[in-house]
Amino acid sequence: MKILILKSNILNFHMLKYKCTVCDYVYDPEIGDPDSGIKPGTLFEDLPADWACPLCGVGKDEFEKENQ
Ligand SMILES: [Zn+2]
Repeated sequence: MKILILKSNILNFHMLKYKCTVCDYVYDPEIGDPDSGIKPGTLFEDLPADWACPLCGVGKDEFEKENQ
């Protein structure tokens, strides 16, 4: 039982949403960013270094984890 809970926590951690601090756009790893060629299931950490906010164009540095 403990192991199951631990696995579930890890999954949630990896699927964290990240929010753009400039325009409030939320990157959802379950959706990805199809307009930029990012497939659903792509973690924020796995986005290319040159990925930019699709709304305002700032880089990943301007994103922070969304509180859930
Ligand atoms: Zn933005």
